[in-house]
Amino acid sequence: MKTLNDFNFKNKKALIRVDFNVPLNENFEVTDDTRIVSAKPTIIKILEDGGSCILMSHLGRPKGFQDQFSLKHIAAKVEDILGVEVQFVSDCIGEKAEKAAASLKPGQILLLENLRFYKEEEAGDKAFAEKLSKLGDIYVNDAFGTAHRAHASTTIVAEFFPKSKCFGYLLAQEIESIEKVLKTGEKPVLAVLGGAKVSSKITIIENILDAVDHLIIGGGMSFTFIKAQGGKIGNSICEDDKQELALEILKKAKAKNVQVHIPVDVVAADAFSNDANTQIVDIDKIPDGWEGVDAGPKSIKMFHDVVMQSRTILWNGPLGVFEMESFAKGTIELGNSIAEATKNGAFSLVGGGDSVAAVKQFGFEDKVSYVSTGGGAMLESLEGVVLPGIAAILE
Ligand code: AMP
Repeated sequence: MKTLNDFNFKNKKALIRVDFNVPLNENFEVTDDTRIVSAKPTIIKILEDGGSCILMSHLGRPKGFQDQFSLKHIAAKVEDILGVEVQFVSDCIGEKAEKAAASLKPGQILLLENLRFYKEEEAGDKAFAEKLSKLGDIYVNDAFGTAHRAHASTTIVAEFFPKSKCFGYLLAQEIESIEKVLKTGEKPVLAVLGGAKVSSKITIIENILDAVDHLIIGGGMSFTFIKAQGGKIGNSICEDDKQELALEILKKAKAKNVQVHIPVDVVAADAFSNDANTQIVDIDKIPDGWEGVDAGPKSIKMFHDVVMQSRTILWNGPLGVFEMESFAKGTIELGNSIAEATKNGAFSLVGGGDSVAAVKQFGFEDKVSYVSTGGGAMLESLEGVVLPGIAAILE
């Protein structure tokens, strides 16, 4: 796997695909700069080598040129975070961009305008990719969040750098973290899968059964498994058409010697509301008119014990309706357990949509080994897909 360290960027222009798709408020101020901060090590390494950086990214979902989606809004923030002056050019291809790139000196940074102002970007257009490729000497992909898309700047452009392309530090770290869970991590390996639906996680479950020793199935997903086994789940969220699949998964897990842990008790609520009446009940005896909304105390204890004996941990998906304060306990306690295991030397990876939100909301970000920056890209990697943006560098 070629990374930045395989190249010396002295007097080279690095064309870097970053993911600066950051949220902006109505005054066009960046409200979460995580993605910019994450790209910093790659950019600094190139500058310290004596190279220059041409940064390209998308921002939002523009339809053609739309000022509100201009990357000019974030240039000052990028400059602030990097501590280096950032030049901005109001196009990403063509004469203007080429001139700006050509006049770039070692140590300097150029930020290109939003790639998605051209529909050719998402179409993966070869001619557009070739125009981008003219701007730099070495192509660096550091955008994990878009690595599952075969867009011009994430995948196709790599063709024009057959010998001079590599992963940035961020993307390399994402790949290594996922490899740890799926292949190289110390055993026992545990995957915690929560969230609302079995259907959205099914391919992940099937793929990781070959990699893990323990599987915790929590959150809304667990009720399909409980009902399939003959339990009473009241009004709990359930995908009836996935019951057979659930039983099949349990069978497969057994055949592969994977220990599956499903909650034994739940917090049941009489309405889907933070102020609902609640009671703790066995997960297979939820009364009619009540629904499971969070893990119960016995389940929390059981999951804690599994987490504490694991050396490699993947966490995707909350254990309850964590957006409502009353039903966040299971998710918070799981976070605490994973934090404690991490402190004791386990490797922990959190990724995919809502679990990242939960980890940030409850302050576990610095207490786990790695928080993935890519939602869809992370989920697809766990499904066993080699992402096009990654394949394009490896080819
Ligand atoms: P996902 O995007 O599949 O990871 O699902 C995350 C969502 O699952 C969150 O919005 C949670 O509120 C929801 N969720 C977790 N547990 C439950 C549950 N017991 N009942 C309903 N929704 C749940």
